[in-house]
Amino acid sequence: MTLLEFKDLHVTYTGSRGRIPAVRGVNLKVAAGETVGIAGESGCGKSTLAMAVLRLLPKSAEVTGQILLDGEDLLAMGWGRLRAVRWTGASIVFQGAMHSLNAVHRIGRQVAEPILLHEKTTPAAAAKRAEALLERVGLPPSRARSFPHELSGGQRQRVMIAMALACDPDLIIADEATTALDVMVQAQVLQLISDLVTERGVGLVMISHDLSVLSSVCDRAAVMYAGRIVEQGPAHEVFTNARHPYSAALGAAFPVIGDPAARKNPGGLAGDPPDPKRLPGGCSFRPRCAVAVERCGEEHPELLEVDTARVSACFVAQEGEPIVVR
Ligand code: ADP
Ligand code: MG
Repeated sequence: MTLLEFKDLHVTYTGSRGRIPAVRGVNLKVAAGETVGIAGESGCGKSTLAMAVLRLLPKSAEVTGQILLDGEDLLAMGWGRLRAVRWTGASIVFQGAMHSLNAVHRIGRQVAEPILLHEKTTPAAAAKRAEALLERVGLPPSRARSFPHELSGGQRQRVMIAMALACDPDLIIADEATTALDVMVQAQVLQLISDLVTERGVGLVMISHDLSVLSSVCDRAAVMYAGRIVEQGPAHEVFTNARHPYSAALGAAFPVIGDPAARKNPGGLAGDPPDPKRLPGGCSFRPRCAVAVERCGEEHPELLEVDTARVSACFVAQEGEPIVVR
């Protein structure tokens, strides 16, 4: 059953700096209980896509297309319904827990808040649930009495996960949720997210620029470049046997554990993604691409099936050629 579906989603920021097409026609489905990774360098439109789901984008963002959650169009929803869907239908874990938590309120109160807001329950019962949630994310329940500054970065990120789970949503979006943590803590928090997703059967959209993070958690992966999905398929396949030169280059920059090609191909990708205001003609990745052919400068490649359950927006892959980056 489809839990979340993006249908031809476009997001354009407008303002004094002109029009910035940040997301350009994304189609993506997430099944109930499924874990889907979204990869791509900074600036490729990942956070814009995530924030569009709960309508957290600024007013300057023009959004077209559809985002269906359980078949209901989030973009057409009234504010009352949307408030109910936030937390209980879908919730987001962002990167910077310090900015998302309220510095002057105790942790327990902040975790209990969405429960009190969305469920008919007493403050005492909500406080108890908050403690149980803190325990589930690996914090002693006594931490409920702490303030955010009394916790480490990893502990704060665990609190954010507890909050995201508070109202039992069907979908969690984690946007670079472990990026600010050091490697050991990152591995623990990833394991926690992975366990919780399995235990509760929630759908997870995990966003990261780091493929090794996604490959340890996700069933399926989509790679974004310049506002578009350029490859999509089973996560392990996409990361270890890429069918788009951008995925291949990302894989080389963020080696996936257990990928023999990663050792032969260290290094990565020179340059930056294009400025959305000055997109090159043809394929957006062409200026950085090692395998580009003439056609790549002339037309934009559509996302087409190149393998079982795998789509790629690359003419070379679509011709059946192997994608070898250097
Ligand atoms: P990512 O999460 O992949 O790093 P973002 O979605 O944050 O990408 O950004 C995509 C593009 O949209 C970038 O070019 C960024 O500069 C631009 N952008 C993001 N937020 C805003 C905003 N509020 N106003 C104008 N442009 C924005
Ligand atoms: Mg981002």
